[in-house]
Amino acid sequence: MAATTLKMYRARTMADALAEVKRDLGKDAVILHTRAYRVGGIWGLGSKPMVEITASSGEPREARVRTRPTAAVRAYAAAGSVSAVPRAPRAVEPEPVFETRSPVAVAPEPEPRPASDVRAPIEAELRSLKRMVGEVLQTTRRTAGAPASTGSDVLFAQYLTLLENEVAGEIADEVVAKVRRELSDEEQGNPVAVRKAMLKQLAALVPAAGEVPRAGRVEDGRPLTVALVGPTGVGKTTTIAKLAAAYKLRQGKRVALVTSDTYRIAAVEQLRTYAEIIGVPLRVVMSPEDMAAACGALRDYDLILIDTAGRSARDGARVEELKAFVEAANPHETHLVLSGTSSEGVLMETARRFAAVGPNRVIFTKLDEAVNYGVLLNVASRVSLRLSFVTTGQEVPDHIEAGRGERLAKLVLPMGSVA
Ligand code: GDP
Repeated sequence: MAATTLKMYRARTMADALAEVKRDLGKDAVILHTRAYRVGGIWGLGSKPMVEITASSGEPREARVRTRPTAAVRAYAAAGSVSAVPRAPRAVEPEPVFETRSPVAVAPEPEPRPASDVRAPIEAELRSLKRMVGEVLQTTRRTAGAPASTGSDVLFAQYLTLLENEVAGEIADEVVAKVRRELSDEEQGNPVAVRKAMLKQLAALVPAAGEVPRAGRVEDGRPLTVALVGPTGVGKTTTIAKLAAAYKLRQGKRVALVTSDTYRIAAVEQLRTYAEIIGVPLRVVMSPEDMAAACGALRDYDLILIDTAGRSARDGARVEELKAFVEAANPHETHLVLSGTSSEGVLMETARRFAAVGPNRVIFTKLDEAVNYGVLLNVASRVSLRLSFVTTGQEVPDHIEAGRGERLAKLVLPMGSVA
């Protein structure tokens, strides 16, 4: 892979800065970050606007750094001068980046996901299957002498939606049983009332962290120290960059990064790029002793975010090694990072393997690429780790949200899916 150069360009206008990027790095330059600010003047009077562009030469690092190009950059890129980093497809509409002053705001409900050409036949098949299962169960119910009340039918339709979205049978049964107890016969005939009650029960199954962690000094006098653990490729580094950017740029906190992921040179390089762009220090540690020393040296910061090596779950020795690194950091929070694109079996096995490291939070990444949200609900309800964040795309820092049970609940029972 050809080496890429990361450089910063400053000029009075976006056009001038972009022209400079193009002159210096050629037309394959990739815009990673843009910023507008003012220089000079007194108390804002007489200051002059400036723009700053961070760009890299050659191929983007496999879309690792995806800050949102401004409209001007996109327009310029569209004209074929430079390539703005492409935006990730958005299946899940992002909610606003979290705020520390919790309680976390309840965000608007996402639109139902559009069916792609590939999904359409599968969805049609599922619908007909759902109809068939419905008919069979209705017949069984009638045969068994159960009252075929309209209320039960509404509940039943939503029950089938849960199953269709891979919510485990026993979880769906439990939810329906509780809703049935909670609602009157009349209410059970009202799809809106039924969905509301179902969502409440589903959300209650997901233990959420509740509040976004507050960066700053913790009772023990240390900065809030947060470690992310999980398999390679699930999005740990990207999530750390999102958190670092959100805390530093949006909340003005003093953030420092530490990584022990030294197995892959690319991983360190990736985090270093983020650290440079966001403007936070990065310490690379090679041993648990290094880790303890690095955390001690960063004691004046508000937040220490620790990235770890993912390969450690492969065998027992590696888990022990990861555990030693994490213990040396003595984090206040250890978040297990799980990818929304994995199967339930893989997720549960991963949770089992990483349990030795002692995680106390879980993050679900790649919700935008997840196929069945029910799987995530099942896992969230079984791993007994509180859901801290979910990520919904590759863009730093936008595609991250505080983890909330309601969010998962609405994904498994979307508004458009119930009659
Ligand atoms: P790590 O090995 O766990 O540190 O994973 P990385 O942070 O390197 O991420 C692996 C890949 O997943 C990268 O291409 C990221 O851009 C991508 N990624 C991370 N988070 C998300 C997400 O929420 N959605 C999608 N679609 N991709 C993501």
